[in-house]
Amino acid sequence: MSFFKKVQTMFGSAAGSTPAGTATMTAPMGSSSPSSSSASPGPKISGVGTSGPYVAMGQKEKIVPKGGGIEGVRNIIAVGSGKGGVGKSTITLNLAIALQRQGLKVGVLDADIYGPSQQHLTRAARPEMADEETLHPSQYEGVKIISVAMFSGVNQAQVMRGPMATQLLRQFLTQVTWGDLDYLLIDLPPGTGDIQLSLAQMAPLTGAVLVTTPQEMSIIDVRKAVSMFKTLNVPMLGVVENMSYFVCDSCDKKHYIFKNGGGSRLAKELGLPLLAEIPLDSRVVETSDEGKAVMVQMPNSDAAKAFVQSAKTINDALVRQQKDGGDGGLGYFLLEWK
Ligand code: ADP
Repeated sequence: MSFFKKVQTMFGSAAGSTPAGTATMTAPMGSSSPSSSSASPGPKISGVGTSGPYVAMGQKEKIVPKGGGIEGVRNIIAVGSGKGGVGKSTITLNLAIALQRQGLKVGVLDADIYGPSQQHLTRAARPEMADEETLHPSQYEGVKIISVAMFSGVNQAQVMRGPMATQLLRQFLTQVTWGDLDYLLIDLPPGTGDIQLSLAQMAPLTGAVLVTTPQEMSIIDVRKAVSMFKTLNVPMLGVVENMSYFVCDSCDKKHYIFKNGGGSRLAKELGLPLLAEIPLDSRVVETSDEGKAVMVQMPNSDAAKAFVQSAKTINDALVRQQKDGGDGGLGYFLLEWK
């Protein structure tokens, strides 16, 4: 029985009736331990082991990915924040759409297994099974997308132990027909835990985008994420500051609700580009709660323009770096500061 079917119990029928040909998950919880992926027609990660040298943070040894990359996927970019609630999922989705609008082939993998948001943000349909072992990703605005909430529904808690969550992540990487992609964006969970470690071990990440809000409370946690990415040998591509300022209807003035300049200070401290300063805008919340991205609903808003610009900066820099004979991200590099 496939892993997708084995983990089904955790999700039951919370997402409603299952349309014909779509993936279901019905086996009893804990009915078996996760098995390593068997031969499947999905994308392969070359050289990936099932266990490996996880190292505790602070140790000198670096975790080097054993994988050679997901077949057909040219760049894997993690979007991480350290802290939850700073807009990481919103930014992942909108960045993905901004890249897609530039003519690139893009996918989003929601790795926030315990707090998945991408289904709520897109209302993307439950993925269809390609065969016993493999799923077709769902789609939103031309972006391929997968999230555990597509199976469970957004209101159901993901009650599973760490190894099970890690195995699910592995399946999302290797047993989803991602096809030919320029970018696979990974919406990371907050914190510096097992999923991040596992991901870095499973697949070589081209880089990570750091998301913060301006105040120190958020920046402290991003610094922890920075330390984690360094330990995991993941290059950092830049900082996105979210909820930077608020422009009120009546005065047109920028109000710095969460203080001013935290993102740019962090970027400077790290020697990274500040990719965007995204305004705090109630329409972002409204459109998100309706399952529509601001990139789609308000393409002329300052927020959308910031996503377009940061997508362009990331893509231009990676194209340049890879053209110059770089290894596609397997090593530290900094984007040029424009
Ligand atoms: P995270 O993934 O970091 O937990 P989310 O993307 O889920 O954060 O965003 C948390 C909340 O903040 C959501 O309600 C979202 O709509 C809202 N939000 C995100 N970015 C903005 C923004 N720029 N302006 C207003 N609200 C935002």
